[in-house]
Amino acid sequence: MGKSGGTRRCPRCGGNIFVDRDYDGWYFECLQCSYTRDLDIITEPGQRRF
Ligand SMILES: [Zn+2]
Repeated sequence: MGKSGGTRRCPRCGGNIFVDRDYDGWYFECLQCSYTRDLDIITEPGQRRF
């Protein structure tokens, strides 16, 4: 596919995660085990890394 660096895995179970944001910032949640963690990423206007 030639795509790299865009996929993250759950550090707990290695499952698929999805990234979302709330009032406090970005976080991800695992689809398999519901593990959640805040993402310490800086987002700039008009630029999305996820
Ligand atoms: Zn997980």
